[in-house]
Amino acid sequence: MKQLKKYLPPLILLLIFEAVAVTLWLAKNNLFYLFNFSYIGLAVSLGLFLLIRKYRYARRIVQLLVGLYMLVFLGLISRENMQIEGFWYYLFTGVFEAATIHYAVAKIFGPLIFGRGWCGYACWTAMVLDFLPYKVPAAPRKNLGWIRYITFAASLLFVAALFLAKVGNIERIMFWAFIVGNIAYYAVGILLVYRFKDNRAFCKYICPVTVFLKPMSYFSLIRIQCDPDKCVSCGTCKRVCPMDVDVTDNARSRRNGTECILCMECVKHCPKKAL
Ligand code: SF4
Ligand code: SF4
Ligand code: SF4
Repeated sequence: MKQLKKYLPPLILLLIFEAVAVTLWLAKNNLFYLFNFSYIGLAVSLGLFLLIRKYRYARRIVQLLVGLYMLVFLGLISRENMQIEGFWYYLFTGVFEAATIHYAVAKIFGPLIFGRGWCGYACWTAMVLDFLPYKVPAAPRKNLGWIRYITFAASLLFVAALFLAKVGNIERIMFWAFIVGNIAYYAVGILLVYRFKDNRAFCKYICPVTVFLKPMSYFSLIRIQCDPDKCVSCGTCKRVCPMDVDVTDNARSRRNGTECILCMECVKHCPKKAL
């Protein structure tokens, strides 16, 4: 019975995804949604199951399963721009599909429940960056977070300009924007890893999606909490955190609190099991 209880969270997660899959399938009369959300639900639940079993590469497996699916199948084969430009595009056309659904679930309303779980377990940009050598930042964080607002505004202006100029075949432009955008993200992301000795430098300073993710994840239901009775203030959790979160502070306003990607590195390394 105790064993069963232990594996209840992945089961509940799978059921939630299935509920979304069936609802969207029936509401939009499109079998794709059943396949899409069932696949993602299975991948994420499998990851959580492996995490509970303390499998070392659990997070990496989910990143690859979801990240590659979205990049290769949805982006390149199905030609859906799942980047922020795609979100603006569908929003302007008033279509609640593909990127708008993806953003609503993973990046705007979902973070109220699972914070920046997207960033830790599913993003195809971080999927590559996390293979690089600076898993733990080897240099202090820079004060460059303002750049994300520029990239955010640039993505919005780019799509708005296409509509205002009444450019034809925007769908095709969106596909190429997805390819060029991803190449640019990987190139800049990898460059910054070595420049700042930090795998997640792109996430911290450049990524426009964080403009949505950060404020929503402030209210996240799921967050890492510290038990002050067990904590011996050894500082290990802060040393291993890829996002420089002050995880021993339980306040929502803790330092870099909205940067937490729920990677569980702090939990794994805490010698007192205080997290
Ligand atoms: S911050 Fe941006 S690039 Fe980094 S993991 Fe999140 S969505 Fe991906
Ligand atoms: S690693 Fe654990 S014991 Fe050490 S400071 Fe963090 S929470 Fe406290
Ligand atoms: S190490 Fe802990 S505090 Fe830091 S991002 Fe991962 S889960 Fe969040």
